Amino acid sequence: MSFDTLGLNPSIVAAVKRAGYENPTSVQTAAIPLALTGADMMVSAATGSGKTAAFMLPALERLTKPAAVHSIGPRVLVLCPTRELAQQVAKSGVTYGRALRRISVVTVVGGMPYPAQLKLLRQPVDVLVATPGRLLDYISSGRIDFSRLEMLVLDEADRMLDMGFMEDIEQIVAALPPSHQTVMFSATFGGEVGRLAASMLRDPQRIEL
Ligand code: AMP
Repeated sequence: MSFDTLGLNPSIVAAVKRAGYENPTSVQTAAIPLALTGADMMVSAATGSGKTAAFMLPALERLTKPAAVHSIGPRVLVLCPTRELAQQVAKSGVTYGRALRRISVVTVVGGMPYPAQLKLLRQPVDVLVATPGRLLDYISSGRIDFSRLEMLVLDEADRMLDMGFMEDIEQIVAALPPSHQTVMFSATFGGEVGRLAASMLRDPQRIEL
């Protein structure tokens, strides 16, 4: 399998190849074409499987097309359990997105000064990568316009629930427009994660590798 046959824009494929990847991993091969259809998805994928590109490349593909709604708010929201993971995901977005017209990837995480993050949120945002607690602070104070949100990604959903983020995630989802695509990545889909998936995903496609 090659990156050229997954349905991605050639400029994104070129950026991925420049990053040194020759072939997609199995989770990328399975998830990317499906994500490009706009379907809701639940994907079991371990750290190190290449899961970040599996959601970031379809997210960037959306950014090659004009937004349907006129606003400066994020078009893609990625929720991560920890600051470290959020920063890593944002870095991937910048690397793979380098070939596109200027895209803005903003990170909102705990432990960082509010004013600096607020300044970034006042400018146009394409991809917002966040930890749930800090994001909810900004939502509660009316700082984020989600009117053009197209895609929500929950990365390591099981870990987010283990860390007690269930209620925060539910409140964040309630602040999003109803018609977005939701893609959930988790090591497992049992118990609480399965319940969250059932409540959030519409007719989800399931990928288990
Ligand atoms: P992840 O599971 O997303 O954390 O990715 C694990 C590591 O694999 C990261 O260092 C990526 O840069 C790398 N990686 C992701 N996709 C590929 C690929 N198709 N080929 C080679 N390395 C990759």
